[in-house]
Amino acid sequence: MIDDLNLKRIREIPIFDVCSKLGISLYGMGKLTKRAKCWYHDDKHPSMHVNKKKNIYKCFVCGKGGDVIKLVQDYENKTFPEACDWLVNEFHIVLIDSEPLSAENSSKLNSKLNNSETNSVKFPSKAGSISVQSVQSVVPLSPDLVPRSLSLDSQFCKSAISAGYLTDSQLRHAAARYRLGCSKDGGVIFWQIDDQQRVRTGKIMYYQPDCHRDKERHPTWVHALMKDTLPPNFDLHPCLFGLHLLTLEQPTAGNSSKSNSKFNNYENNFGTNFAQFPSKAGPLPSAFTPQTSDFSPQTIAIVESEKTAIILSEKFPDFIWLSCGGLQMFKPELLEPLLQHRIIIFPDTDPQGEAFRQWTQVALDAQRLYKFRYSLRVSPLLEQHATPEQKEAKIDLVDFLFK
Ligand SMILES: [Zn+2]
Repeated sequence: MIDDLNLKRIREIPIFDVCSKLGISLYGMGKLTKRAKCWYHDDKHPSMHVNKKKNIYKCFVCGKGGDVIKLVQDYENKTFPEACDWLVNEFHIVLIDSEPLSAENSSKLNSKLNNSETNSVKFPSKAGSISVQSVQSVVPLSPDLVPRSLSLDSQFCKSAISAGYLTDSQLRHAAARYRLGCSKDGGVIFWQIDDQQRVRTGKIMYYQPDCHRDKERHPTWVHALMKDTLPPNFDLHPCLFGLHLLTLEQPTAGNSSKSNSKFNNYENNFGTNFAQFPSKAGPLPSAFTPQTSDFSPQTIAIVESEKTAIILSEKFPDFIWLSCGGLQMFKPELLEPLLQHRIIIFPDTDPQGEAFRQWTQVALDAQRLYKFRYSLRVSPLLEQHATPEQKEAKIDLVDFLFK
């Protein structure tokens, strides 16, 4: 149930720190070994040896001992999953997701995609310090800006269809949900609307006919273009792209258009395996987190690019797909509105694993700063399954799936 990778990470939490957290007094001057009074019996003389190097404990009188999980289990009278859960929360462990997509399913999926006349597209695609801003005082842009801009005329919308990412109906559905706008010069407007439906800003981006970014044209921001017409006191507080979907849509999965036969099997196949851990009733998170029947949180998937969020929202509608708009934009405070949700983060990949490391670090920082209901999960899917060439090209999830 609990995968080995995460168990290993939990077992590596320094045992001296765990003892300290539990209020167990350690005696002795040794750097690697200390002693404690055994908690399994009345122990006047400290008989419990706690070994830092092996990260285990053992009583030399009664013989009981174990690792840090066993320690928490026995000392706190917890079950194994409860003890893991406690350690994850106390020590801010960011869970790395196990195989949400097995290699076998991944290749199955890829061959399915390759057989399904999807156009072949190849598409090449740093972490901030912790700071928490209060967004109570957000002065948003006028909400009228959004409906006025709504349009399918951007190069992005056209090419998402022509490049084979989405069907016409999928694009229409996604564009309506994400409220895609079009600028006068053909750029797509990715509005950043928060969970209280406040328009924080909009990012205008330019795409090529193959639905890859036009690198010649830099993204611009709506608030930057507005200049004099900005609301007084406007202070930019970016939010995750798609955040408004949290409150607009109740957690009913599968509300997306599934009418496109091409992806039906694909969805079923990928969906079940992929969604196994975070799905509404899925078994996996319960290994760490007891489920309550009165709470059915939506699962949030966070990716780097808006394009990825939009496309995958149609392919995997069980998730709410959000985008941070770029790794350098990904900050812990962006996750604050998501405290009650299950969250899985899909880093892009690169040859050195740098993106994965940075995304994980931001998740770690966020978990230190906020009390999440569920531990954040970071998917190593691309780290594990992307080829060296794909890593070289710094692909993201869409690139991987549409390869
Ligand atoms: Zn003992």
